[in-house]
Amino acid sequence: MNKICPNCEGKNIAQLIWGLPNHKFLEEMDEEKNKDKYQLRGCIVSGDDPEFYCNDCGEEF
Ligand SMILES: [Zn+2]
Repeated sequence: MNKICPNCEGKNIAQLIWGLPNHKFLEEMDEEKNKDKYQLRGCIVSGDDPEFYCNDCGEEF
C-alpha cells in the first residue's frame, strides 16, 4: 500500500474495513502476512468514515 500517514508520515498503514466482511476476506486477513494490513470496524457506516489506519501512531484518515 502506498499510503502515507498525514500525522507521522509513516508507511505502516492498514486499511479499515467497514461493515461485515465476507468469509474469503476473513481467511485472507488471518494470514500472517496480512495481519497489519486491515482493521475491522463496525457495521455502522456514516459515509464520512476514515479509510486508513496508521499502525505507527494510530491516526485514522
Ligand atoms: Zn502515523
